[in-house]
This record gives sequence, C-alpha cells and structure tokens, in this order.
Amino acid sequence: MNKSEIEGQKTISQSRRDAMARFLAAILTGVYLSFKWQTKASSTPMISLTDDETFMRMALAEARQGDLPFGTVIVQDGRPHATGRNLCKTDQDPTAHGEMVAIRRFVATHPAEALKGATLYTTGEPCPMCMGAILWCGFGRLVFAASIGELATKLGQIDIRSRTIAEAAPFARISITGGVLAAEALALFP
Ligand SMILES: [Zn+2]
Repeated sequence: MNKSEIEGQKTISQSRRDAMARFLAAILTGVYLSFKWQTKASSTPMISLTDDETFMRMALAEARQGDLPFGTVIVQDGRPHATGRNLCKTDQDPTAHGEMVAIRRFVATHPAEALKGATLYTTGEPCPMCMGAILWCGFGRLVFAASIGELATKLGQIDIRSRTIAEAAPFARISITGGVLAAEALALFP
C-alpha cells in the first residue's frame, strides 16, 4: 500500500465517520424535537396530578372550616380565584353548599364569562343542584375527592352521579376527574 492509497483509505473512513455523525445528529435532533413537542402537547391541555392535589388541599382546608366538611376552590389560568365552604347552618340557607358559595363569591368579583373553561375543585362529588350550576356556568373541568357513593356512607345524598347529569346536558363540555385525595375528604367526617 503506497502513501496515496493509505491517504485514500483515511479519506474514506473519515467520510464514513462524518456520515455516521450526521446520521446520529439527525436522530438526536428528531428525538429532541419529538420530546419537546410531546412535552408541549401534554403540558398545555393537561394539569398534572401535583396541581390537582395542591388545589384539592386548598379545598380540604376550606372543608375543615365548613358547617359540614365540604370545600371548593375555583381555578382559572392555573390560579385560585374563589373559595367556598358549606355554610348551610351559618347562613340558614340549605343551598349554601361549598360549590354554590364559591360560584357566588366568584361572580361577585369577576364577570360570569370568566367561569367558562375554569376548573372547580371540590371535596365531595357535587349534588344535582351544584352540578346543574356547574354546567350552567360553563366550567371546563370538575375535580372531586369523595364520590356520592362514598359520601352516602357518611350523610344523606341524592344518588345521581355528576357524570350522569353532565351527559344529560348536550351543551356541556366538561371533563370530570374523581377520587383525588378522597380518603382525606372522607376522614373529615365523624
Ligand atoms: Zn351541592
């Protein structure tokens, strides 16, 4: 093998290495862009479980101060805007459930339009009265802790699930997540 043949082989192996490097760079770029896209795609519409638990803990703190242990937090754009707790006895108002109290407080300081697409966190699955109000308000998401069935082991409940009411409202676009910190919500009852 003369000198020019050796140099020729070097050039070939060099160009192979370059091609391999470009190939790897292309794959890594593809993986990175795909990861970036997926991260963006999944973080934009979804709220993480950590956020759900954070806001549910705020609702639980409200529930601890309620006439009955029910609490609610209304979240819009990732921030809490109104809270409510059961005030049926305090206000002598059987409709003063935590959800109704929070909605009334929200609309006292915000335009009602701002409820559209908001998320309502509540420690107990909403009763038909509150679920009707949630749908009329245009909430985009409902997150509750204890279900109607679980609450019924503690106190009287109207046995209609929030999902059943939402499905009966063709205009409603709401996603429902149940069971977030349910054990903590149930533990507030004697
Ligand atoms: Zn209610």
